[in-house]
This record gives sequence, C-alpha cells and structure tokens, in this order.
Amino acid sequence: MHLTEPVYRNPYWPTFPLIQITQGCTHNSCKFCTMYRDVPFRMMPLEWIEEDLKEIRAVAPEAKTIQLLSANPMALSYDRLMPRLELIRKYLPKLEHMYACTRVTDIANKSVDQLRALREVGLNEISLGVESGDDWTLQRINKGYTAQDILVQCHKLEEAGIAYWVTFLNGVAGREHSHDHAVHSAEVFNQCHPMLVGTGGLTLFPGTPLLDEAQRGEFAPLTEREMIEELLTFVQTLSCDCLFTTHHTSSLNLTGPFLPRKQQIIEALQHAIDHADMDVLAARRASKRGL
Ligand code: SF4
Repeated sequence: MHLTEPVYRNPYWPTFPLIQITQGCTHNSCKFCTMYRDVPFRMMPLEWIEEDLKEIRAVAPEAKTIQLLSANPMALSYDRLMPRLELIRKYLPKLEHMYACTRVTDIANKSVDQLRALREVGLNEISLGVESGDDWTLQRINKGYTAQDILVQCHKLEEAGIAYWVTFLNGVAGREHSHDHAVHSAEVFNQCHPMLVGTGGLTLFPGTPLLDEAQRGEFAPLTEREMIEELLTFVQTLSCDCLFTTHHTSSLNLTGPFLPRKQQIIEALQHAIDHADMDVLAARRASKRGL
C-alpha cells in the first residue's frame, strides 16, 4: 500500500480500509497543527491507487466502507477526483460509505451538480475541520476561510446530499476570545445541518506557531476549567439536530444524539467544572502526542 505517515484515521468511526488519494495538506499552515508540516502535498498517481485497490480487494472484496486519505483529498479538482472515485467503485462495488476529511475551501471549487455526481459515485460522508465559526478566531489561527464561507459550502453539501461533520476546537481562541469563539461557532453550526458536531480540546504541540506565541505571551491558553466552561457555553448555544461527540480530556461520555440529551450534557459539563480534578486533566493533555 502507498501510505505516507502520518495516517489520520477517522476517530469516531475507524473505517477500514484506507486509500491514499493525496498526500499531506494543501493548506499546511493552521497555527495549531504540525501534522503534515514535513509532508509536501501531492496527488497520488492513478496507477498507485489502482495497485492499492487490488491489494484491498484481495483481502476485503466485500468492503462496505472506505476512508480516503490524506488531509484533504477533495482539494483535487472535480475532473481529477471523479476518475479516482470511479476506480474505487469499480474495485469495491459493495461500498456503502466513502468518507474523507476535507477543508471548507475544497468544496468551493465544485458546483452543487459536481458534488452530487461525486455523491452518486459513492462519496457520501465528509468531515470538515471547521474548528471555529468566529471570524476573529478563524483569522487568528490562519484557517483560510470565514464564517460566511462555512455557511455557503455547508449549504452546497446539503443540496448535494452529502452528509458532513463539523468540528469545534475548544480553547483555540485563547482566553481573550473564548466567549465569542464558543457562541459564534454554535450560531454558525445552528444555521447548517451537520450529521455530527465533534469537539476536541486544543493541545499546544511543540513546533506549532500557537505554542511559540504562548511562550512569548501573545496567546493566553485556557486552563482546563476554562476549557470546560467554554465547551459549556458552546453546548448551551448549540441547537443542531445532530449527533454530538467530544474528545475532551475529562473522559465524559457525551456521545450520542444531541438535542434529546442537551440538558444531560450541560449537567455533565457543569459537574466536571465543579468536581473534576483539573491537575489530572492537565496531565492527560500534556501526555497527548497528536491531534
Ligand atoms: S488543521 Fe487540517 S487544514 Fe489545518 S494544517 Fe492541519 S491538516 Fe491542514
């Protein structure tokens, strides 16, 4: 298999098998991320993809799901992406779910008709690492798009019938903009119809510009308690009829349908704010090695 490290597997639904369509990330400059810093972006040749598909078919001819790698395979133009998806469909005709991570900007160069055609050949679920719906925060962390861009591109996915997740990166706005980040993100998500909202907590990894800024006193990271308080504000504002999950260090099991459990989630977060051992949470975060 032509797999380039690091391989980021869907954390909520560890699909198997994986197929690499692109390598690295076209953007590669979000201030909290070093995942693909040393991996140049490239498109995998069709011949390599075909070789990998032959290997996959040999061991999993009945595969129902597949994850397209790497960070944002949908960065490819429609004309380049379509033959790759058709090849996957040819080798794995029983596929029911074709899943990919992608950036908001990767949807922008595709029309709704093109997105619909990609869905018809099998691409029916994508994860958008949105991270925030607050313009100040998006600019601060160099995501490369605005809240309005998120809305426009998510609505195109809805029109095309492609299910999508959105992520909220708890803590990434720092102390100064924590409240706006939480409220504005939830307000943007409320105007969309994601199948899942996932939340992860910011960890300042070595080599990230955000850690450098924190060390120079230009970025004030949240304490563990403030992280949960921000998450609580986000959840209180969120009103999406979707699934909800979190990677928070508190080990709270918050995964499931959101609206019927919203009050329960709020109470669990409030309980964590009042009773969790923040030193233990900080130690867990310090031991994290990747997003
Ligand atoms: S967070 Fe995603 S889009 Fe940003 S640099 Fe990392 S892989 Fe690329």
